[in-house]
Amino acid sequence: MFLLAGISPRTKVLDQNPQLCPVCGLARAYYRRVDHYLSLFFIPILRVKTGEPFLLCETCEKTVSEMKADYRSESSRVLRRCKMCGKGLEPEFKYCPFCGALAP
Ligand SMILES: [Zn+2]
Ligand SMILES: [Zn+2]
Repeated sequence: MFLLAGISPRTKVLDQNPQLCPVCGLARAYYRRVDHYLSLFFIPILRVKTGEPFLLCETCEKTVSEMKADYRSESSRVLRRCKMCGKGLEPEFKYCPFCGALAP
């Protein structure tokens, strides 16, 4: 006996107006939401979970929040550098693990 029932995610496009993607600069980002449905024989019957809306760029094929997180970690890495050896430092480091100098 094989019952084809389960929870499956479905992506819904919330907005038909494209938003500007901050990474590629094209108006190809749409607000989407992933809802989870209880489905039977591949037919969604009941929505069991409503997801958080997110922006996904069709060109970059990445969510915009992911890309922003990348940017943030990139810039914090650039901001904190050891003044003695110039290596990147994690924000919580008090001393440079490479040369032992006091972190700026
Ligand atoms: Zn993009
Ligand atoms: Zn150093």
